[in-house]
Amino acid sequence: MYATVDGLAISFAAALKPLKKLEHLYLGIYLSDLDVFHRHLVHCAIDILSSPAKPGTHSKPPFAPDECVICIARHATDVRARELLASALVARTLQSLKSIAWSSYFAEDEPGDDVMARSTNVWIHRKDGKIRVRRAPW
Ligand SMILES: [Zn+2]
Repeated sequence: MYATVDGLAISFAAALKPLKKLEHLYLGIYLSDLDVFHRHLVHCAIDILSSPAKPGTHSKPPFAPDECVICIARHATDVRARELLASALVARTLQSLKSIAWSSYFAEDEPGDDVMARSTNVWIHRKDGKIRVRRAPW
């Protein structure tokens, strides 16, 4: 378990550093807070089941955070920023890396995202010693 996304990314990059020709990596790790699913269940019980007619919520509890307007509003922006940050940190160590994919509850309608697979793919661009990342091929 890692306290920060920085620590996770740096540790995985160090472990994979011997793979000098690694170009595409799928880690299958969710970069959400560890308790996002628990918090989802709690607010479903409190916010949705106790008052199902509340505007802006669901009439019945959504199965997972990616189907929940409350979780998306509370977590999606931060998690998506973490996915880009972690990708850049891993790319800094793995010089041959061209793309990296993560599991994500918060995939959106972007070229690198697959909502059904709950994954997001980030492409890496290197120029003049700088690393740029985005959710579409460069
Ligand atoms: Zn939720």
